[in-house]
Amino acid sequence: MNIILLGPPGSGKGTQSSHLAKKYSLNHLSTGDVLRSEIVSGSKLGKEASKYMNEGNLVPDEVIIGMVSQKLSAIDSVLLDGFPRTLNQAKALDNELSNLSKTINHVLYFNVPSEELIQRLSQRLSCRNCPNTFTKSENNPSCKSDSSCEEQELYQREDDKPEAISIRMKNYTDLTEPLLNFYKEKNLMTNIDANKSIAEVSEQIDKIIHI
Ligand code: ADP
Repeated sequence: MNIILLGPPGSGKGTQSSHLAKKYSLNHLSTGDVLRSEIVSGSKLGKEASKYMNEGNLVPDEVIIGMVSQKLSAIDSVLLDGFPRTLNQAKALDNELSNLSKTINHVLYFNVPSEELIQRLSQRLSCRNCPNTFTKSENNPSCKSDSSCEEQELYQREDDKPEAISIRMKNYTDLTEPLLNFYKEKNLMTNIDANKSIAEVSEQIDKIIHI
């Protein structure tokens, strides 16, 4: 089974992914997480990507498409989180999957009002060591207390600062939103009310993809 999570920054795709990937034995492929680990490792790809990411801009299509194609050929079923984000990427994904004789089974659209998204992103703290995220209002959260990760210190992502958030929102509207029609026309898309608790969102997803 191959699933795409589509939705604006802060809509909870990453949070639901860990649960979904485990429950349905899918390989979680988050392009944002892959890029962030490339940055940490100091690779050429990471260096190139970081200037776009810190500003809140998208990394160029050819870089992302190359990176995802390489990963896709090495795994069986996939849960795509943060890809595709442009029409070019969506078309490239179609080609790549058809070369591998695979198809997309579901596109889940995480729908959240924009005021709520801005609130979530500006309150978000991230772990330096793993994909976990937390909310600032929690009492001095540390990743260690919540998971097997040993990291004590959380940080605010450069692109979770106000200026970058506005750029990300605009990029989402201009470049990613057109994908909603692209997948609607293919009859693959289901709307998720993602302005709910983590448990409620995951219940909605389970009803759609029950196998
Ligand atoms: P969010 O969904 O909260 O914006 P992500 O972790 O998915 O965060 O992505 C962080 C950044 O990584 C994006 O703002 C962008 O710069 C880059 N990125 C991730 N996925 C893609 C993609 N498919 N195409 C272009 N850039 C991407």
